[in-house]
Amino acid sequence: MSTSTSSTAGAVLVLNSGSSSIKFQLIHPETGEAVAHGLIERIGEPEGRIIFHHTTGTEERVGEIPDHRAGLRAVLDMLETLGRPLQEAGVAAVGHRVVHGGTVFHEPTLVDDDVVKTVAELSILAPLHNPANAIGMEVAREELPDIPHVAVFDTAFFYSLPPAAATYALERTIAREHDIRRYGFHGTSHEFVSQRAAAFAGRDQADLNQVVLHLGNGASASAIEGGRPIDTSMGLTPLEGLVMGTRTGDIDPGVVMHLNRVAGMKVDAIDDLLNRRSGLRGLSGVNDFRALLSLIEEGDEDAKIAYDVYVHRLRKYIGAYVFELGGVDQIVFTAGVGENNVDVRRDALAGLERLGIVVDPERNAAPGKGERRISADDSDVEVLVIPTNEELAIARAAAKFA
Ligand code: ADP
Repeated sequence: MSTSTSSTAGAVLVLNSGSSSIKFQLIHPETGEAVAHGLIERIGEPEGRIIFHHTTGTEERVGEIPDHRAGLRAVLDMLETLGRPLQEAGVAAVGHRVVHGGTVFHEPTLVDDDVVKTVAELSILAPLHNPANAIGMEVAREELPDIPHVAVFDTAFFYSLPPAAATYALERTIAREHDIRRYGFHGTSHEFVSQRAAAFAGRDQADLNQVVLHLGNGASASAIEGGRPIDTSMGLTPLEGLVMGTRTGDIDPGVVMHLNRVAGMKVDAIDDLLNRRSGLRGLSGVNDFRALLSLIEEGDEDAKIAYDVYVHRLRKYIGAYVFELGGVDQIVFTAGVGENNVDVRRDALAGLERLGIVVDPERNAAPGKGERRISADDSDVEVLVIPTNEELAIARAAAKFA
């Protein structure tokens, strides 16, 4: 991340409020320069922690942070140490990452009381995230009342999924009554990365079929035709699709009934199992990809199986999306694993030469952090690594309201 000594004038404060954490970044929407960024974690626990990175260094503080208001106040206090209070210093807007926009929100939205209320009501669809997102918006508006606050929804990009991709084959009255459909998540990242990939190749996105693989702790894939998503791997919740750090991804729903009837587990315990104790962690004991690779190097069989299951599912989705698109121009890797892991990129696309997909081993293994091409010159399909930057995308969306 680049940080700069430039002033905060014109910068956007991007907030990502979780149930016990707040991630923040003060970023210039045009250049992408981050003036400061950091994380508050363990809100509501006796030992809270604040990490604050700014132009001249990093500070860490430990102490009780009773609630989100205290957390945000601490963020603003720290940012004020860089100069004047944010509003006086010309901060242009606050961008809020909101996980679930339901069927209501399809684009970046200026926050007012009704928006906060609706985001809170959508907690039915995202019980882990939306309550904290709503609190974050409420508190931030009180602390920074004179600048626009803009909600940017993780589901928005996928709102226009074609009905065939968005609809579960579930009894229709139940599905309609409870808004049960495929929403998709990580939309800000898929949109940003697909646009950057087209720009990197010097091509008009309208002419491209793209498969984007966002592989972080959470992981999702999307099929994008001319800039419009036609499918994505996450569904009603971020549990569907690829194998993730702690989430199962796709699983036979019969397993849920079985766990209830045969293992005697109640719904909250099953929720915890599928969301937090499964995926790579459930299979190997670790959810961090680097830790998984270390275990594999030590000869750990479970870790090897976890890796193979992860790659198998990934290949299955890539194959499905290439087929749905009727052929692909670009396959794009992003997020922690996608940007950094040579093995996953190699294995996800191994043996596909007859489909015109050829990864160049040296380009793939070359150290680098930036946007890069890893396909061979004779590959019909361009394979790219494009770092995601959700904060910048949110800042740009918010700045439009300033
Ligand atoms: P999120 O934003 O979803 O929390 P990230 O996009 O930061 O997640 O991705 C986190 C994942 O990326 C972790 O599994 C981590 O091990 C993996 N990762 C980060 N750096 C590397 C690396 N150099 N090599 C392999 N995996 C990496």
